[in-house]
Amino acid sequence: MPRFQRPTGTQDILPEEQPYWNRVRTFAIQLAERAGFERIDVPIFEATELFARGIGTATDVVEKEMYTFEDKGGDSLTLRPEFTAGVVRAYIEHGMHVRPQPVKLYSIGPIFRYDRPQAGRYRQFHQFNLEILGTQDPAADLEIMLLVWDLYEGLGFRGLSFQLNSTGCPRCRPGYVEVLKAYYQQHIAEICDDCRRRLQTNPLRVLDCKAEQCQPIIAAAPAIGDHLCEECADHFATLREYLDLLGKPYTLNHRLVRGLDYYTKTVFEVWAAGIGAQAAVCGGGRYDGLAEILGGPPTPGVGVAAGIERIILVMKAQGVEVPTPPGPLAFIAHLGPEARREGVRLADELRRAGLSVWLAFGERGLKSQMREANKRRARYAVILGEDELARGVAAVRDMGAGEQVEVPLEGLVTWLRERASL
Ligand code: AMP
Repeated sequence: MPRFQRPTGTQDILPEEQPYWNRVRTFAIQLAERAGFERIDVPIFEATELFARGIGTATDVVEKEMYTFEDKGGDSLTLRPEFTAGVVRAYIEHGMHVRPQPVKLYSIGPIFRYDRPQAGRYRQFHQFNLEILGTQDPAADLEIMLLVWDLYEGLGFRGLSFQLNSTGCPRCRPGYVEVLKAYYQQHIAEICDDCRRRLQTNPLRVLDCKAEQCQPIIAAAPAIGDHLCEECADHFATLREYLDLLGKPYTLNHRLVRGLDYYTKTVFEVWAAGIGAQAAVCGGGRYDGLAEILGGPPTPGVGVAAGIERIILVMKAQGVEVPTPPGPLAFIAHLGPEARREGVRLADELRRAGLSVWLAFGERGLKSQMREANKRRARYAVILGEDELARGVAAVRDMGAGEQVEVPLEGLVTWLRERASL
């Protein structure tokens, strides 16, 4: 038989990792709901065409990274490589534009991209995603940015910074793209092959290139900030004014264009210290044209996606601690067939009373059962022996203090509840 292993780029989230996941999930949801976001769960797979249209066929995600398959009915489906297209599809499909605007939605779940696996980069990973649909107000961009900032700060991150840019809109971007292309033509011999291709298919992406030889060209490239139309420039100025007002540090980064086609105006990332090259813990921005691209009514939107694995990497790199879940309140040990039967009954009774209980399995000596109670970090061991049973009591050992008392079986629930302060 072959020895099966998890597929490349996927992870098993083992029980000992779960406290990190719980902490992040619970806190993220709490922040979102406090700010008026409502949860939406969209399918893990969608029509391939939705992502091709929504994200753009000339993007890395659509060109190289989608898990696309044909189902038995012959439909082409794709495992979601992001949330936004699915959420906007749902907004349109359910006519959410008739609800009070804007609609604020959050999602959390697995995302799939055929990426080159490395630390902080997986093929199945998880995102916490926020969208505000139905408003142009730069205060919505701000709200999205502040919410992820509060998430990272509240989790205890140090060394946070915003990277910020505006990618303009269909009115001003084409003009800038021409300027950028003209500049790149002068350097065509110096740039990498990928960038030569990008100039034809998705010119803004040359600014995102990681190749060594392209770096000096990018550094001296014309900045989109100098080519924004009045509306985009105003929007950007207002957002920056708000950030200044709140004292949030940001770096204007004219190289930040992000991988997806649908962005208009604001684009941003949050960078955190401690995870090296994968410094971006989230990415987001405004996408005012997306709903129309997907066949819906014109609906401005702004959103962000935060990678949960990256958050946990930073937590570990920066030594952020999470509480370990407590062991069981009671570990039930039993000696002899009658006590075992009583143990089974008692475990059920205590659990029904809302107490956390571990029942010893098998037939073993007291020493071995006490060792297990210790390993499972039980607060009390409830020891049932033939002698105790005859007298209707259990020996209860406080595993921390090592003290032992006898408690009548019928009073055990109350006794334990009092100690668990329930
Ligand atoms: P993007 O839409 O590519 O900007 O992704 C948004 C966020 O998702 C990033 O800032 C990362 O935190 C996370 N992310 C993106 N791709 C991956 C990946 N392959 N593995 C783990 N996290 C990822």
